[in-house]
Amino acid sequence: MSSVSPAQLARRLLRPELLELRAYHVPASDGLIKLDAMENPYALPVGVADEIAHVAATAAVNRYPDAAATVLRTRIRALLDLPEGMDVLLGNGSDELIQLLVMALNRPGACLLALEPSFVMYRMIATFCGMRYAGVPLAADFSIDVPATLAAIEREQPALIFIAYPNNPTGNLFDAAALRSIIEAAPGVVVVDEAYYAFARDSFLPRLADYPNLLVMRTYSKLGMAGLRLGFLAGHGDWLGELDKLRLPYNVGVLPQQVAEVMLAQHDVLLEQAGRIKADRAQLAADLAALDGVAVYPSEANFLLFKVAQADAVFAGLKARGVLIKNLNGGHPMLADCLRVTVGTAQECGRFMDALRDTLNTLQ
Ligand SMILES: *Cc1c(COP(=O)(O)O)cnc(C)c1O
Repeated sequence: MSSVSPAQLARRLLRPELLELRAYHVPASDGLIKLDAMENPYALPVGVADEIAHVAATAAVNRYPDAAATVLRTRIRALLDLPEGMDVLLGNGSDELIQLLVMALNRPGACLLALEPSFVMYRMIATFCGMRYAGVPLAADFSIDVPATLAAIEREQPALIFIAYPNNPTGNLFDAAALRSIIEAAPGVVVVDEAYYAFARDSFLPRLADYPNLLVMRTYSKLGMAGLRLGFLAGHGDWLGELDKLRLPYNVGVLPQQVAEVMLAQHDVLLEQAGRIKADRAQLAADLAALDGVAVYPSEANFLLFKVAQADAVFAGLKARGVLIKNLNGGHPMLADCLRVTVGTAQECGRFMDALRDTLNTLQ
């Protein structure tokens, strides 16, 4: 044993699919205008920040958190106006809930199906957990290709389907009737991932009671709490009770629970900020569309997908000018030369547009 290096030992012992994975890359953003990760750019109202300071100073961090997060869950349920029999299960970010669902539904041979391009964690977590994965391409305009999707469901018999509504990284909200036809055809669970619900005009939450195989997932990350790590799964208590057995008992810490309680008491303020972001999104989309050589896609999220002639050079040019966005070129083939920009404050959007115009001028 002593003659073996750690690297050799790791290669021998670890699951081969893990050795092939590349870790989720989070780029350095120090000193840059950060428009790469769909964060809410606005600060908390002064009174709320004071309240959080008080909560943090008096929280019993020497004790384990309330494992059921009763107070926080009650607050969330009250905000949602859930149909009868429905409840919420909290996650340390909704990424944790994706993992929990995969662990729960990964019976031998089971398949996870997702549309592509979409949120990359669906595929990554399936790989982590050794679950079979099937990706179904979207149509060229990023809408759901219903016949292809229904055929894939028939062929793969997926135990689990994830659909981001609105979709990331494309930004569009899928047709609700197309989604309904998928839920009705699916032999397994369909999770509608509403990470961007605050910026969209529709939700499947009110439809939870219509389907025994539907769960709705949300996160507070895009609404101003990315740093807290808090997401939830809404669905029938019979589903959540089983899934709860897999949840690590203290997955949401004392401070995230208590800070989220304070922040969700200000849900109106957060939604007002989301409203401002939606208005700024419209302006930013118009500004982008006005540029030669830029195509911008419709969005109901807090970001815009756009296509340029040379995405790598534009991305680098923006970064050199102090603006960090997301380069999607080189990922999914349908995203060739695509970039994604988060809608920041009006001032940040202005700085981004200046940097983009300047970059495009130098590239011509
Ligand atoms: C950001 C995002 C998530 C993950 O959110 P966290 O709660 O921060 O883990 C899930 N789904 C989609 C579609 C997202 O864009």
